Amino acid sequence: MATKVTITPFEATALNIIPALASNARGTFRTHKTKNLEWRLVQLRKLYWAVEDFKPQLLHALAQDLHKSDYESLLSELDWVQKDCLFMIDNLAAFAKDEKLGAPHVPITFSMMNFRIRKEPLGTVLIIGPYNYPIQLVLAPLVGAIGAGCTAVIKPSELTPASAMVLKELIETRLDNNAYLVVNGAIPETNALMNEKWDKVFFTGSAGVGTIIAKKAAETLTPVCLELGGKNPAFITKNANLALAAKRLLWGKTQNSGQVCMSQNYILIDSAVVKTFIEFLKAAEKEMFPNGAKASPDLARIVNQRHFHRIKKMLDETKGEIVMGGQMDESELFIEPTAVLVNSTDDSMMAEESFGPIFCIYPVHSLDQALNIASSVHRTPLSLFSFGSKAENNRVLNEMTSGGATINDSYFHGSVNSVPFGGVGDSGSGAYRGKASFDCFTHLRTVAETPGWAERFLSVRYMPYNIKDLKF
Ligand code: NAD
Repeated sequence: MATKVTITPFEATALNIIPALASNARGTFRTHKTKNLEWRLVQLRKLYWAVEDFKPQLLHALAQDLHKSDYESLLSELDWVQKDCLFMIDNLAAFAKDEKLGAPHVPITFSMMNFRIRKEPLGTVLIIGPYNYPIQLVLAPLVGAIGAGCTAVIKPSELTPASAMVLKELIETRLDNNAYLVVNGAIPETNALMNEKWDKVFFTGSAGVGTIIAKKAAETLTPVCLELGGKNPAFITKNANLALAAKRLLWGKTQNSGQVCMSQNYILIDSAVVKTFIEFLKAAEKEMFPNGAKASPDLARIVNQRHFHRIKKMLDETKGEIVMGGQMDESELFIEPTAVLVNSTDDSMMAEESFGPIFCIYPVHSLDQALNIASSVHRTPLSLFSFGSKAENNRVLNEMTSGGATINDSYFHGSVNSVPFGGVGDSGSGAYRGKASFDCFTHLRTVAETPGWAERFLSVRYMPYNIKDLKF
């Protein structure tokens, strides 16, 4: 019998208690209990089991908020976080261990001293999440924060209210709720949180809001990790396996109905193969959705009407030709995976990040032209994808930067939970996942220790100086 699930209606945290919540998390950090490795392991194990026990509520919430299928929710949200917990549990002792420094870091002249790096928790951190992966994108950083020994306040997206409420219950009933708290709400609550002093702010969301967060954090010299979006290019040359490229890139735009920061926004393709590529794209769509995309129980929906209209506007205003998809239904917040053939970087399809199931195809006559266009559209995208010969793929990697890159596929650089992930330039700064999650919330504190017996070797430092003592 299916478990009956009830989710508390969304309720924003009262603004006037936010300072006390932040102060509580800071106070807990000052007790030093989070520095104990066994304590951290217990919290990570509790988080693993909380996700396990809350599966029905989490799946229900994700279906309610984004119409996500259980299949996708399990793979990209719940299983993901549980794997993160296990990875951190398995490796925590090694990550947290002092690192002894010898040659080549310490010159022979100082070899009588002990140098080591202590891995110290930054302190109390704020994690602000977006709506598209409302569970994974706050719990994965939280795994890093717990592993590092920090306390944390989490601010999930208000656009996915059911997930936000389940998260609050899950964290505050299962973890140490003096150390880990959830504040729910939108801009006023985020602003109230940003008025508090944090040891790091971990923000995932749009570049526009990231700028607001970074500016506010700068006022108190608070470090930030910014995981932002961007206009991600895919490059396809004559040497690509076109059928595979079509299927894999379409997959990237069907996951979470394209509400994925890493998926391609535009494809720069050699004009000689564009027609064949479009045929493969249509064939792949037919294969994934034999009864049409709308009838598929697997395809998520757009999060809300505002985003539905934002995406629709890009399609309404394009001067390009819709070559695949194009159907929409506002009552269901449904947008069919859609490809548009364009010939100008000024097209509405290129103007902003689509963050939906739509993308454009731009025919080019050479890889030179493709690289010129891509660097003029977004010099530092979050992702790029290259489908070509080995030499062509290397050229793309050499001549165009990005947060991460995948050769011959869609976003696999960001689909494995234990490899570092992050943006570059205006697609973000800082990285997390795997060991990078631990490092993200850790201060590398160099400690030098000088034994008393070493005094005679070090006495040259004292005044009065004698230049002859410097034996360079
Ligand atoms: P968003 O920037 O609108 O919101 C993110 C968070 O900021 C939310 O918790 C929201 O409540 C808060 N917020 C919104 N406006 C604010 C304001 N004016 N002041 C203070 N706080 C504010 O992002 P979104 O729409 O939820 O998510 C989509 C964006 O996130 C896309 O640009 C996408 O590319 C990006 N994203 C990036 C990654 C990554 O890992 N790099 C992952 C997912 C999404």
